[in-house]
Amino acid sequence: MGPIPYGKQNITAEDIQAVVETLQSDFLTQGPKVEEFETKFAQYIGCDYALAVTNGTAALHLCAMVLGVNEQSNVITSPITFAASANCLRYCGGTVWFADIDPTTGLLDIAHVRILLESKPKDFFTGIIPVDFAGLAVNLEAFRQLADEYNLWLLEDACHAPGGSFTDSSGTQQNCGNSQFADLAIFSFHPVKHIATGEGGMITTNNRDFYEKLLRLRTHGITKNPELLQHNPGGWYYEMQDLGYNYRIPDILTALGISQLNRADANLKIRRQIAARYNEAFQSVKSISILNPTAYYPELKESGHAYHLYIIQVPDRKGLYDYLRQHQIFAQVHYIPVHTMPYYQQLGWKYGDFPRAEKFYEHCLSLPMFPTLTNQEQQYVIDKVLEFVNF
Ligand SMILES: *Cc1c(COP(=O)(O)O)cnc(C)c1O
Repeated sequence: MGPIPYGKQNITAEDIQAVVETLQSDFLTQGPKVEEFETKFAQYIGCDYALAVTNGTAALHLCAMVLGVNEQSNVITSPITFAASANCLRYCGGTVWFADIDPTTGLLDIAHVRILLESKPKDFFTGIIPVDFAGLAVNLEAFRQLADEYNLWLLEDACHAPGGSFTDSSGTQQNCGNSQFADLAIFSFHPVKHIATGEGGMITTNNRDFYEKLLRLRTHGITKNPELLQHNPGGWYYEMQDLGYNYRIPDILTALGISQLNRADANLKIRRQIAARYNEAFQSVKSISILNPTAYYPELKESGHAYHLYIIQVPDRKGLYDYLRQHQIFAQVHYIPVHTMPYYQQLGWKYGDFPRAEKFYEHCLSLPMFPTLTNQEQQYVIDKVLEFVNF
């Protein structure tokens, strides 16, 4: 048995074939595979528009742009997320605010967001970026109600949750990223995520104006659409209407994405089986706590969890981390709280600001969770974890 990472891509012969075919086609980039990936991804998620970009961070950046983030913007996100969820605001000059998490799930706690909103004048804040942390859907219906009260936009960071869902108050299943409640959502196709394209990202929305603006911003702010041009002297003509970027993803990668998407449901099922086995192994172990989604919202069916990560909490996290490493198990910590990063400390945040997030960080460990993890490997991980905590 070789080293076991916490997450890993799964590339099949079909994936390789799809990439090879694209390499042999007329388009390495700006070809038909991009739109095909977008269409299929939008169908998978259940939204009107999907726009593929170079990575999840670029997706966040473009969303911040179309949401109008600027020097006057004050936006709230979770301290327990990857830094990019917050950084996208800084790219546009906005100010990042954090609110503490719910300790049973690691999700941004809506009660703490409300307290923060109430602590400032009513029009102080401009938006919220909730994160479907570990693959557990944020209750966006509740966030939407709060956002409407304060006239805020909602950007869902769904990087951990393609295929995840929650059940809303009318009993309807709401897929992560379907933009039913959020204005925009984003995904990443980094190899540790559910769908791997090497680097890659996606923006999903039901808002046509946002979508059209995003199309331009992805490619320098340029349009060739005759309906949008100010004048049209000939077939060569295009206009750069906004200051955009080159955030285009090549066809080579979207071909891989399409092929990966074909297995998304099957892989999600395996992730849930792996989680069920971990749950069973650890449920009655006193010194291990497992995250408890149903404590957060009782109506959530366990089946809605997308399990990007499987996280346990233990008293001696460093001890367990080191012990597993000694045995070639490369568990990870998700996340070092964003507000404690030196960059955010320079902006005035400090250790101590969000006690629940900090405590979560001090005890959490993400165990191997990926569809090709074998039963034998998982049993080995379980045995080593139990060996350490029972020692
Ligand atoms: C991976 C990730 C990102 C960034 O995605 P990249 O594709 O690596 O740029 C943003 N937010 C969260 C929560 C992520 O897990």
